Amino acid sequence: MTDIKNLPHGGRLIDLCVDEDRTSLLKKITKDLPDITMNDRQMCDLELIANGSFSPLAGFMTQKDYEPVLDRMMLENQLVWPLPVCLDINETTARNLEAGQSIALRDPEGFLLAVMHVEDIWPIDKNREAEKIYASTDASHFGVDFLFHSTGDYYVGGPVEVISLPMHSDFKQLRMTPSEARNLYKKLGWQRVVGFQSQKIIHRPEFEITISAMREARANLLLMPVVGMTHPDNFDHYTRVNCYREAGRNYPPETHVLNLLSHSPRNAGLREALLHAVISKNYGCSHHILEQVDDLPNGNKKSTKPIAHKKLLEFSENYGEQIGISVMAYDKMVYLPFEDEYRQKHKIPRGSKTIVFTGQDIRDRIRTGRKMPEWASFPEIINCIQKAYPPPSKQGFTLFLTGLSGAGKSTIARVLYSKMMEIGNRPVSLLDGDIVRHHLSSELTFSKEHRDINVRRIGFVAQEITKNRGIAICAPIAPYARTRREIRDMIAVHGGFIVVHVSTPIEECERRDRKGMYAKARAGLIKGYTGVDDPYEIPEFPEIRIDTSDITPDEAAQQVLLYLGQKGFI
Ligand code: ADP
Repeated sequence: MTDIKNLPHGGRLIDLCVDEDRTSLLKKITKDLPDITMNDRQMCDLELIANGSFSPLAGFMTQKDYEPVLDRMMLENQLVWPLPVCLDINETTARNLEAGQSIALRDPEGFLLAVMHVEDIWPIDKNREAEKIYASTDASHFGVDFLFHSTGDYYVGGPVEVISLPMHSDFKQLRMTPSEARNLYKKLGWQRVVGFQSQKIIHRPEFEITISAMREARANLLLMPVVGMTHPDNFDHYTRVNCYREAGRNYPPETHVLNLLSHSPRNAGLREALLHAVISKNYGCSHHILEQVDDLPNGNKKSTKPIAHKKLLEFSENYGEQIGISVMAYDKMVYLPFEDEYRQKHKIPRGSKTIVFTGQDIRDRIRTGRKMPEWASFPEIINCIQKAYPPPSKQGFTLFLTGLSGAGKSTIARVLYSKMMEIGNRPVSLLDGDIVRHHLSSELTFSKEHRDINVRRIGFVAQEITKNRGIAICAPIAPYARTRREIRDMIAVHGGFIVVHVSTPIEECERRDRKGMYAKARAGLIKGYTGVDDPYEIPEFPEIRIDTSDITPDEAAQQVLLYLGQKGFI
């Protein structure tokens, strides 16, 4: 008899991949079906639904499941389920679809992944979803921002038949499905396994937690780094997985298995933590490690505070029982320098001297080239991160000069280009407005939409240059805060991103009117000119702000060079 504890969530491990006959039949019918091109988040979800990580889901949620998930963290059938796993579509697609139809789900290259049989389509109440899931509608939170700005306005729900799982060409040997993992435990003779899933790298505190959980549960360890979409603040997944491999050497031999999880994190606090427990359950774990989480998701930095350990324990016990897995709640690990050891925060006597390093502290230290104390991590892991994220003097960086036309961006950019070439330790590219327009964007007009596309293209090229450790000097007007933020998110993961707001007031720019454009705009000959009849959204927190009204171009460039020197880039 199978012990209920060993069964997947809901009693059945889902496998939605169809056999060859069904595949050829589906391929034939898809020729006449409407298509949906899936984004990265949706492909991660599809993979986890298809391979049984999200058992008992057998497709994207219908509204009958979605509503109780929002309200009570439960599916329609009363099984615990904390987060919506829905397929979002835009309004045009929604209007052309109806229940009973089938649709072809494709990857961005057009490759057929699955067929979905539509059961329902409904408009998303995004404010409600944000409040329920993130307890906030503040788009400074990663998950809220994704919901409001990168999610379509409708959901479409229904079962899927999977023809091909999304392809991965990296770390193929580290990608087991839940049923493969279960078979492996059998082969290894493992009856008790504790699951640990994290977007973070394993430093000392995480290592201490996993070792302590293994001992307490008398279990082996399933280490699952989360490698779906990477949060812009985080290290790339190649580096993280390499660090997990290094961390693996610190465990006793043959006591752990490393397996990647293509989950796209929502950063949804306890709800997200609970989803990980469900995934562990499906991966055949008897135990699951729940790390300390904030009461509100972590994008909401101002108002977050850690959940009291007692509350976390109650939560783990209650939901663990319902899911059928022992959830082991761990408090924040803090370091006691005098004792030279880690302990859970609530176990430390009042008044003890402690030090805490958050994941963010570690990332900041690495990125700014500061040393890591020995107690915080392992030398091999730090080495591994430093190879991918060298100190600023060896990083690439982007200087992003933004401001009104005539503010002085190009002039300063040219001076900076010469200075960087003089220094001569990195390749330098100048992505000035006119040059970019000529080579990359010659078909674009100066409409609002096209100007935004142009800035994104500049951002893309600058990202590649920064990634390859060169210097990109960009000088677009880039009037919209949202586009600038998008570009920062793209580039800052690869190196330095320095916004230089050339803040010369419009009166001075207009007085200069180098190209006679302000005169034309004032005369109504050109429309949508930034500063005249289109807004320039002033950067709130640029790294540098320079008003060139009363200084020379060399003095302006000097301010940038001093900043770069101070931050260790040159
Ligand atoms: P933008 O690229 O912002 O449209 P440009 O650099 O093409 O602006 O033009 C700025 C004009 O202002 C040039 O004629 C430049 O000589 C003049 N200028 C005066 N002082 C400065 C300064 N400190 N920095 C940059 N440009 C300056």
